[in-house]
Amino acid sequence: MSQANELYQQVILDHNRNPRNYHPMPEATHACHGHNPLCGDNITVFAKVDATGQLLEDMSFQGTGCAISKASASLMTSQLKGKPTAEARELFGEFLEMVKGGLDPESQTNHLGKLKLFQGVREYSSRIKCATLAWHALMGALDRKETASTE
Ligand code: ZN
Repeated sequence: MSQANELYQQVILDHNRNPRNYHPMPEATHACHGHNPLCGDNITVFAKVDATGQLLEDMSFQGTGCAISKASASLMTSQLKGKPTAEARELFGEFLEMVKGGLDPESQTNHLGKLKLFQGVREYSSRIKCATLAWHALMGALDRKETASTE
């Protein structure tokens, strides 16, 4: 197993066992339930957006799913907390391109940071939907949708 793959496995397992930002958020301004029928993952993403509508003041998630879907939600909420909503949309685009193989995670122009770890799912197409579920739910939440699906 390559070093990158080993790190990927470790981080996925760690975030699955101890998910960050895993709690309901009664004060959330945005929430969306994401469903991945292919794997059976169900993840609700909560966001508290500031009064200007441009800043993700707080983020959390809850749900049940496979290790990849939970680890992805955990890393996503960690990375986007306190960031502008515009940055979240930009990162969603980069993340989607990366897991589909269209973006080189080692390029200098992306903003993926720790999210680069998920480049491992490129080799397992059925896992792409697990890795992107929380992101679809977040985009749904920002677009005021109650549900989002990977299908
Ligand atoms: Zn899954």
